[in-house]
Amino acid sequence: FTPAELVAVRADFPLLGRTVRDGKRLVYLDSAATSQKPQVVLDTEVDFYEQRNAAVHRGAHALAEEATEAFEHARQQVAALVGADVGEIVWTPGATMGINLVATGMQHATLGRGGAAAERFRIGPGDEILVTEAEHHSNLVPWQELAARTGATLRWIPVGDDGRLDLSGLDAGTGGAGRAGLINERTRVVAFAHVSNVTGAVAPVARIVAAAREVGALTVLDACQSVPHRPVDLHALDVDFAVFSAHKTLGPTGVGALYGRRELLEALPPVTTGGSMVEVVTMESTTFAPPPLKFEAGTQMVAQAVGFGAAADYLRELGMDAVAAHETELAEELLKITSIPGVRVVGPESVGTLGAEAGPEAGLPDRVAAVSFVVDDVHAHDVGQVLDDAGIAVRVGHHCAQPLHRRFGIAATARASASVYTTLDEVVTFREALEGVRTFFGAE
Ligand code: PMP
Repeated sequence: FTPAELVAVRADFPLLGRTVRDGKRLVYLDSAATSQKPQVVLDTEVDFYEQRNAAVHRGAHALAEEATEAFEHARQQVAALVGADVGEIVWTPGATMGINLVATGMQHATLGRGGAAAERFRIGPGDEILVTEAEHHSNLVPWQELAARTGATLRWIPVGDDGRLDLSGLDAGTGGAGRAGLINERTRVVAFAHVSNVTGAVAPVARIVAAAREVGALTVLDACQSVPHRPVDLHALDVDFAVFSAHKTLGPTGVGALYGRRELLEALPPVTTGGSMVEVVTMESTTFAPPPLKFEAGTQMVAQAVGFGAAADYLRELGMDAVAAHETELAEELLKITSIPGVRVVGPESVGTLGAEAGPEAGLPDRVAAVSFVVDDVHAHDVGQVLDDAGIAVRVGHHCAQPLHRRFGIAATARASASVYTTLDEVVTFREALEGVRTFFGAE
């Protein structure tokens, strides 16, 4: 963005104008947890309640038609942001629920629901589910549960010292001591984050998807930390399923999306059943509506979905290439904290560019502007508190990724993360405040 463009972007976010802690200018560096919302998203949601509120897909009155139109238009807006077709977007309450929908749907298929069409989702003893050591608990625990309920085995791609996935054991014959590679004939599903919410590292999606395809395994991409920050084309990435959350993507809380390839959504059994997802119901049995409605039982989060649509349009108007370029500058500025004595970054310490092997992602940055770090001899919570006293909001803790923190032998990190509205000036303010942290605690 030009400086003038960035000023205009910031002016769109009312919350960024406020002060905290006795009049200090707010420096919001917690966008990986949740982003702030532009006025157009707030207005769209209010306008829905003021002008269009009605039950969707039902009533035969004018208002119900308008509400339905707004709801379905939002689906198109969100689909357009991620290169999907409108019928491939299922509304969910968030990414977590989208992953649970797929994992539990597989369990239902295993129980015989969905008939022969759902056979490809069946999983049992001897089968393998592959995740990574870098996953958010949202993309780990549902798979642990699926393994526990079906007798399948959970395996994972380890993380190297640089915070990137270690793919050396991925393929057949590379698992060591007679073991099959991590992706092998028994692998039924590979679930992994596009971008880690801790390290900011971008996963080699093309490489993992190619290996999964070779053995017929399903791929599930957790795109929570990529969709808000870079161009994402789910068709080009060729994944089977993907999830992301509105609230990290400049949109409202309470809504997210599950992307699924059309034929897979048709075959996957629904988990939540009830009103709105049916075609014919008798006392004995029910036929389900086609996807995406099949997965949208009960009254949906209509106003939030409509707000999400506005957020998707807002990002598309900014241009995701411009967003990625702006945030790469911020990432580079954030990573200058590596030169502060006693500060160690968990994850890649510089931003590179993905090469030809990244296929559709070639030329895009290989990490995003989410930087987790530790300060020697100072607990992450104390780091967070000193920064907070200066009006700087970062996140501290394990960021719902305990195994990844255990991998690095640390209980907690502090994380500074940026979004479209973050300025270089804010990052400099953060860095200067961080410079004083060890001195403050008498660590040097
Ligand atoms: N995956 C990743 C990588 C995330 O960062 C998050 C949110 N912290 C989630 C999944 C879960 O998203 P939600 O809480 O919105 O369902």
